[in-house]
Amino acid sequence: MAEAGSVAERVKQQADIVRVVGEYVQLKKAGQNFRGLCPFHSEKTPSFNVHPVRQIYHCFGCGKGGDVFSFVMELEKCEFPEAMRIVAEKCGISLPRPKQRSGEERKESHQRATLIEMHREAQAFFVKQVEGTLEGKAARAYLEDRGLDRDALGRFGIGYAPSDGDALLCFLKQKYPEKLLVDSGLISRNEQGGRLFDRFRRRITFPISNESGKIVAFGCRALGDDQPKYLNSPETPIYSKSNVLYHLDRAKEALRRQDFAVLVEGYMDAIAVARAGISNVVASCGTSLAEPQIKLLGRFTKRVVVNYDPDAAGQAATERSLSLLLEQGFEVRVLALPPIVDRKADPDLFIREKGADAYSKALKEAPPYVDYLIARARQMDLSTAEGKLRAVNFLLPYVQKIPNRILRSEWATRIAQQLRLEEPVLRAALSKAASERRSEVKTQPELVGRAAKPVERRLIHMLAEAEGFREELAKQLQSARLYQGLETEKIFAALVAASLSGEPVQATEVAAGLEERERRMLFEILFEESSEPTWDEAMSCIEALQQRQAERELADVQRSIEANPAGPELRGLLQKKQDLMRRIASAR
Ligand SMILES: [Zn+2]
Repeated sequence: MAEAGSVAERVKQQADIVRVVGEYVQLKKAGQNFRGLCPFHSEKTPSFNVHPVRQIYHCFGCGKGGDVFSFVMELEKCEFPEAMRIVAEKCGISLPRPKQRSGEERKESHQRATLIEMHREAQAFFVKQVEGTLEGKAARAYLEDRGLDRDALGRFGIGYAPSDGDALLCFLKQKYPEKLLVDSGLISRNEQGGRLFDRFRRRITFPISNESGKIVAFGCRALGDDQPKYLNSPETPIYSKSNVLYHLDRAKEALRRQDFAVLVEGYMDAIAVARAGISNVVASCGTSLAEPQIKLLGRFTKRVVVNYDPDAAGQAATERSLSLLLEQGFEVRVLALPPIVDRKADPDLFIREKGADAYSKALKEAPPYVDYLIARARQMDLSTAEGKLRAVNFLLPYVQKIPNRILRSEWATRIAQQLRLEEPVLRAALSKAASERRSEVKTQPELVGRAAKPVERRLIHMLAEAEGFREELAKQLQSARLYQGLETEKIFAALVAASLSGEPVQATEVAAGLEERERRMLFEILFEESSEPTWDEAMSCIEALQQRQAERELADVQRSIEANPAGPELRGLLQKKQDLMRRIASAR
């Protein structure tokens, strides 16, 4: 894959797999490796390992493994050139301009770059409005009333889209062709006359950035009673709402550090929470949470506190999000803020009225999602059997989504107690839900295990990394055919061939040429803790293999003898048996 001297090889040498993988998976140091939850299969205990010295990764659960490029290809579902570009970008390595991109790709990437540029200019335009125009001043007064001072405006890039309907258009059309203006979603086209006009008018503008901090859309709130209250950018070549979480670009560090996320509904909430000093907050942004957003978040943390609006729509959104989060293996708590006087409190209102400390406290005390759901179920009419059935049916799907069987059964018992279920039928339905669900993918599948003997494992290690004597070792192994008939024969054959090729040995490339079973075994062996190899040790391993070879031969000879051969042949076999037995005895 990475030819010596090629760009890929250069990127691979400079890139750090721990850093790149660390952007997707939370890694903790474990011995000489780093370990985390595998992004390729669902698991509760980490079996995904990254080796900082060998620059490889391997999952002992599902068996996926490879180098930094194959990791990105697998996770981002992209081809090699794209993976290389991503790795280079993450590590700040500059790449030479690609020469052979197709005209179509060049055009698309140029279009994306232009759209991002256009959003940057629109952002500057909106900010200028809020600062310098009469209308903007009115907007600022409104914002100040909502607790957003000049400092907050600057920090979150809040701006204003004026009411005249073509101010942004006039500003942008000097530089950009009409088609691109419409493609950007910032400008709309009137259906009858084809006339162009600003999509956002008389609205507060909130820039929405992608994960890397580039503005790709705007969320806008009406200043007066205009409908709709919230209007966002449409889907464009640079923006897909289900792929973006508001504030994620600024929350990344805190998400990793604190290992949990606060999930709110809108950008006003996210801003209020972030201003309260809780920077690990993201907003699903007006829409209910989508699966790609959850996967995006899951790259930073698998623990989340959901704090949606307390109204009916917010409750429905909370429950929908819960299902999705549980399916993706998140640990979920739900914060339902108490009403303030008689007003239902969203995070923004709560923080303004009660302060940042009260919010932090509520956050800490947020109960596990099952408690929230039971509380919701208890609000239903539980005085009749039908009512209880409704409550159980409300809870059942969530119970079934709990990945752990024991936990499921515990919750089933608890629900039965809390809802005072005496009816055997309902209890039976609950315990059935608790027992029916495939448990998570087993780690350590039957496959490899400790199959290969320690001596074989150690020699494989040496062939992979003893730069000094690898070639000599390979020659010895090959000439005596010492690995013939071993379980690891194919791995040895591939490593020996690579060692004798005169080229540097790349474990990932050797692995690429192996069958699945051997590939896994090789990776597992490479991940074992090991000391610096020495030639003496190599020799003693070779002797052990010679010994085993002799034992195998002896067993063969013995079988031939027992087959009752003719006289001369028997004499030969007996002689050979004597020799082998002497050889084995002297080696002991
Ligand atoms: Zn895995």
